[in-house]
Amino acid sequence: MKLLRYGPPGQEKPGLVDSDGRIRSLAGVIDDLAGAALGPDSLARLAELDAGSLDPVDEPVRLGPCVAGVGKFLCIGLNYADHAAESGMEVPAEPVVFMKATSAIVGPNDDVEIPRRSEKTDWEVELGVVIGSTAKYVSEEEALDHVAGYCVVNDLSEREFQLERLGQWVKGKSCDTFAPIGPYLVTRDEAPDPQNLGLWLEVDGHRYQDGSTSTMVFGVAKLVSYLSQFMSLQPGDILSTGTPPGVGLGQKPQVYLKPGQQMRLGIEGLGEQTQRTVAAP
Ligand code: ZN
Repeated sequence: MKLLRYGPPGQEKPGLVDSDGRIRSLAGVIDDLAGAALGPDSLARLAELDAGSLDPVDEPVRLGPCVAGVGKFLCIGLNYADHAAESGMEVPAEPVVFMKATSAIVGPNDDVEIPRRSEKTDWEVELGVVIGSTAKYVSEEEALDHVAGYCVVNDLSEREFQLERLGQWVKGKSCDTFAPIGPYLVTRDEAPDPQNLGLWLEVDGHRYQDGSTSTMVFGVAKLVSYLSQFMSLQPGDILSTGTPPGVGLGQKPQVYLKPGQQMRLGIEGLGEQTQRTVAAP
């Protein structure tokens, strides 16, 4: 299933995409795409619905973030060997983990703000993993049972805030609008092999990133298991699994975003995002 949220910011309703590609409303069926609604029992119930009996949604409509009530936004750094190389860093011996403020989350096609005093705002297309049921001390073999599905993430990053200021990466990763997610939460049955998906990103029509999740250092099952040794993962938590090469930091000379540009990015089977860059108010 392709699940989504539609409507104005803060007033989104849940929906799904039917077999003809039309959006149908899940309002009244579930409260939102959040918490227990992301669990295996709930997803099984949704899969049994006759989509034709659900109200069609007038399109075009704004799409919101594909998950609501995100408790934790966990990110993995340097998880593609060729991206680590372009960043001038070693491939880590175990996953590099950092967090992004959940206030950065926006819809897949919402404007992205270039923060005040930013000169190095950069892009990162990433496979996002949405947790569907609590995972605590799970093995790699059990890990995917706790995954509701996948989504496209743009892990926007301000490189000066991230790398040239003191302390952790979180300052460069958490600016408002730095986490577009969606358009869809694609359930796991529709993406049975998360380690074989093409992913790409273009700025103003120039393709900078063109990779495959097959070259991840640590795969999804490993990452979910690994993180669950340090903290419980809860329904609605998002794990962004790192970016392939081709970010602005890795260009020679480096290339960064300015207001008035357009990013397009996508992952095979998970849909596409389009964002316009604007100056932060
Ligand atoms: Zn990233």
